[in-house]
Amino acid sequence: MSTASLVVGVTAANSGRHEILLAGVAGLVAGALSMAAGEYVSVSSQADTERAALALERTELATQRPSEEKELATIYVQRGLEPELARTVALQLMAHDALGAHARDELGLTEKFVARPLQAALASAATFSVGAALPIVTVILTPVTSLVVVVSGASLLCLAVLGAIAARAGGASAWIGSGRVAFWGALAMAATAGIGALFGTKVS
Ligand SMILES: [Zn+2]
Repeated sequence: MSTASLVVGVTAANSGRHEILLAGVAGLVAGALSMAAGEYVSVSSQADTERAALALERTELATQRPSEEKELATIYVQRGLEPELARTVALQLMAHDALGAHARDELGLTEKFVARPLQAALASAATFSVGAALPIVTVILTPVTSLVVVVSGASLLCLAVLGAIAARAGGASAWIGSGRVAFWGALAMAATAGIGALFGTKVS
C-alpha cells in the first residue's frame, strides 16, 4: 500500500519510468526492513515479558505452592466450577504440569510460550514485499501515461479483496471490511498524488 502510494506520488510528479521504478523498489526495501524491525522489536519484547512472567510463576510455584493451588482453584470458580470441583481440577492439573496450568489459565499464555521474533520479522518482511511487488510489476507493464490510474486501480482492487478476506476471517461483513479499507487506501493515494503533482509542478 505505501509502495503503491509512493509510485502514484512519484508518477504524479511527472517522473520517468526509471525514477518511478527506483522509488518503488526503494519503497519496497525500506518498507520491508522497517516492518521486519518493528515486528522484531515488538515480538522480542513480548517474548521477554512472557519469559519474565513465567520465571516469576515458576518461583511462586516452588516457594508458595498452597497459595498457588488456591489461586488456580479461584480462577476455575470464576469460570463457573463449584469450589470443590475447582479445587480438584486445580490439584490434578498441577500434579500433571503445574507451570503449564498456571501459564495457560492464569497468565493466558497458550502455545508452548515461545514467541519467535526472527520468524515473525521474516514473515512480516515477506508479506510486505509481496504486497509491494504488485505496484512495481504494474510500473514495468504499463505505459507511464496511464500509470496513476492503473496502479491506483490495481492497488485498490487488491486492498478491497484483502479487506474482504480479513473481514470474513474476523467474522464481520466482507462488504464493510473491503469498503473501509478501499476508502482509506483511496484517500492515502489521492493525498500522495496531490503532493506529487504539487511538488512536480513546482520543481519542473
Ligand atoms: Zn500462579
